[in-house]
Amino acid sequence: MSVSLDCCVCGGGAGRWMQHWNRDSGYGICAECVAFEASTLTAEELKENYGKPGVNYGQPMVTFQGRRYKVLAATKHEDVANAFMERVPNASMLTVFDNGVIVLADKEDQGEPIAVEPQKELT
Ligand SMILES: [Zn+2]
Repeated sequence: MSVSLDCCVCGGGAGRWMQHWNRDSGYGICAECVAFEASTLTAEELKENYGKPGVNYGQPMVTFQGRRYKVLAATKHEDVANAFMERVPNASMLTVFDNGVIVLADKEDQGEPIAVEPQKELT
């Protein structure tokens, strides 16, 4: 059963997901916050704290050069990014945004083209 959750990190809405057993009732994590949490936690810690993407929280995604990629982790700290890439062999730096956020993605991830809504005819 999915329920409406608030993010335990930023306090914003976290969407409708299954309550994770290791979180206070009514709390989950939003896709943006979980990307930052993932940068400093192991996969096991992330799962224990927040559950699974697509079940207990939304999979963080990023749009870059017209394609959508799964975000493995995000951080503003280069040393955190480097440590993450050492820990997660397939991780690589996808991009660094102007605000200093380093986005880490799987190097095999080719990204998905963004679906463009066909223009509707005016009636
Ligand atoms: Zn949040």
